[in-house]
Amino acid sequence: MSRCYLRYWAGWQLSLPLMSLLLSSIVTGCNNQASSPPPAPQVETVASPSDRSKVVTTFLPMYWFTKAVAGEAAQVEILVPPGTEVHEYQATPANVQAIATADVLVKNGLGLEEFLEDTVKNAGNSKLKQVEASQGIKPVTEISPVEETTSEEEHGHGHEHAEGNPHVWLDPVLAQKQVNNIRDGLIAADPQNKATYTTNAANYIQQLQALDREFRQRLQKYPNCTFVTFHDAYPYLAQRYKLKQVAVVEIPEDQLSPQDIQRAIAAVKKYNVKAVFGEPGTDNRLLKNLSQDLNLTFRPLDPLETGETNPQYYFTAMKANLKSLEAGCQ
Ligand SMILES: [Zn+2]
Repeated sequence: MSRCYLRYWAGWQLSLPLMSLLLSSIVTGCNNQASSPPPAPQVETVASPSDRSKVVTTFLPMYWFTKAVAGEAAQVEILVPPGTEVHEYQATPANVQAIATADVLVKNGLGLEEFLEDTVKNAGNSKLKQVEASQGIKPVTEISPVEETTSEEEHGHGHEHAEGNPHVWLDPVLAQKQVNNIRDGLIAADPQNKATYTTNAANYIQQLQALDREFRQRLQKYPNCTFVTFHDAYPYLAQRYKLKQVAVVEIPEDQLSPQDIQRAIAAVKKYNVKAVFGEPGTDNRLLKNLSQDLNLTFRPLDPLETGETNPQYYFTAMKANLKSLEAGCQ
């Protein structure tokens, strides 16, 4: 991977002289064509990378949606590294620096980004415009049963959902609302690029609508399909497609304790559970054994809190989720 990166970097360095050669030949060509009046310095009116708005986003889904809307019209950065858990994230000095020099900050809201409170204060950026992607979305506090582990109480993590469940990006319909909010925020901060933001947002929303249709079509065969997860991430998705999530919540979410497994067994017995879903990357051996013992299917379900930075990755991961849900609910 690092070798690829080096090669890419070398390519970039090589291409710089080539690019300036190309640019100067274009400019020369223009000069030759323009006869009497001196050519207008058009190049100066085009925003150079440093003139673009700087937009910082909190975690991956906010980065995808913002990058999809901004395209190349703004400089988009991410605060929480793509492989890092957002729920327990601790801000770094680099994050404070990034916010201090940003024009816009895009966040999910609904209490997800607890690390922002002090970080924004410490950045002391009075011109910073904040965009809350979940604005206007009615949060749910209790759609699905949540079987909390004792360790959660010990960690005092009950505050996470004080403002409602934050995982709205996992519903392709609510994701459209988030994209619209981000579009409006970018336009308010940078009206010059309104046309670009509007077109880009419309294209991404069209994809989200197609994804929603696909989810509806393929999941309508399994009304009230009840599944167990180990992250209370899917109440909006379940509500949208008439499924039922029973969440067994353990923080940190990447390690399952024997108590979690006991909770899961109890939940499976209590509710009419069809499938058990674990997160990609978790230690699933225990869960696989558990599912086999209970005669249930076990599949991965991705909360999309980690992954690749390409905005199209949302669709890749969501289609994989659809496949898992379909297979689990059969
Ligand atoms: Zn989460």
